[in-house]
Amino acid sequence: MNELIRRDFPILDRKIENKPFVYLDNAATSQRPKKVIDAMMKYYVHYNANVHRGVYHLSQEATDAFESVRGKIARFIAVASEREIIFTKGTTESINLVAASYGEANVKEGDVIAVTRMEHHANFVPWQQLAKRKKARFEIIGLTPDLRLDPKEIDRVLALKPKILAISLLSNVTGVVNPIASLATRFKMVGSTIVVDAAQGIAHGEVTIDRLGPVDFLAFSSHKICGPTGVGILWGREALLEKMPPYQFGGNMITHVGDLDSEWNELPHKFEAGTPDIAGVIGLGAAIDYFETLGRVRIEEYEHKITSYVLQKIKDIACVKLLGPREALHRAPIFSVAIDGVHAHDLATFLDMQGISVRAGHHCAHPLMFAMKCPATCRASFSFYNTLEEADLFVNALKESQKFFAKKPKSPENGGVKV
Ligand SMILES: *Cc1c(COP(=O)(O)O)cnc(C)c1O
Repeated sequence: MNELIRRDFPILDRKIENKPFVYLDNAATSQRPKKVIDAMMKYYVHYNANVHRGVYHLSQEATDAFESVRGKIARFIAVASEREIIFTKGTTESINLVAASYGEANVKEGDVIAVTRMEHHANFVPWQQLAKRKKARFEIIGLTPDLRLDPKEIDRVLALKPKILAISLLSNVTGVVNPIASLATRFKMVGSTIVVDAAQGIAHGEVTIDRLGPVDFLAFSSHKICGPTGVGILWGREALLEKMPPYQFGGNMITHVGDLDSEWNELPHKFEAGTPDIAGVIGLGAAIDYFETLGRVRIEEYEHKITSYVLQKIKDIACVKLLGPREALHRAPIFSVAIDGVHAHDLATFLDMQGISVRAGHHCAHPLMFAMKCPATCRASFSFYNTLEEADLFVNALKESQKFFAKKPKSPENGGVKV
């Protein structure tokens, strides 16, 4: 699907050290197609004005463009009501909003809040801290040796009837896809409210609320689906959002302010205090259009091909340890690797010398990395605009790296990452 698509992304023409730029850090942020950049530029050049405020032409145009994106998002994730779509500044803020507003109002001392060991810090720490504030029990669903959710651990935590289950759709470290629909059905039966971190999931497949089962909240970021940074989405069930107190106070979220008390605006504005990232939301709208034009099922099928291909190739390199499952089933093209005796940062620097951009570190997942006794990995994360040739470059560079580092005297610092 690739050559034509790559032309939509001007940045992919760059050279790094005179070599073609191979961008494999899509799990941190994706690149943006020209259409997204143009849509934002057009707003600033032609109709820049604040939204929801003015009666004049430009403010109306800006408000219409901004609000039309709400409808696009609702259709994108297949929900009926635009009132359930809240603009935030990212997945992190979306989850913090739920933990602070819903969590503060509903969790009581002794209640159980459950997360999994594969969560990104953004879907771990807000719940951990809520549990601390409320004297609630914080339970972590453990993983199998290949880093999928452990069925015994799911049963254990299910029996505790958690008030809240916060879980990611897809791990940003291992690429594991969780069976949200069946989990949501089971946890709903014991009365849990289910919060889904879809920051990665939304980038790699067709995520619609009807197919996720009885979930209550869904959070994702614009910048991982080719939109700009600084914008995120929170979807929540209207009945829950209606009862939740505001998260922040200020302009736009208010209908009346008295000396002693105030009245809140209706949904979704109740949760959107202050001037939003207007250009960012308009850019996200263009990114959604772009995704719809390519087709999310097509993207998923193509990425599955990359996943199978890389897994097959990595298998043949003896020194490379791959975190997580080795089969392509229910797995996205995100590969965290470690090489014995080579520090993850050295490996990432070596790859960068070949023009290949990967991420080295803990990937905002300390609880997972600690459980693995693995302080850092090198993570290559592919998107639909990456090619099989780029996969070959990555795999060959991994092979080369072993020879390269073998020549170096071992220092205590590169004494190795054990998986
Ligand atoms: C990137 C990511 C987040 C955080 O997203 P922000 O855009 O930084 O708020 C949360 N969860 C997962 C799984 C992620 O990959």
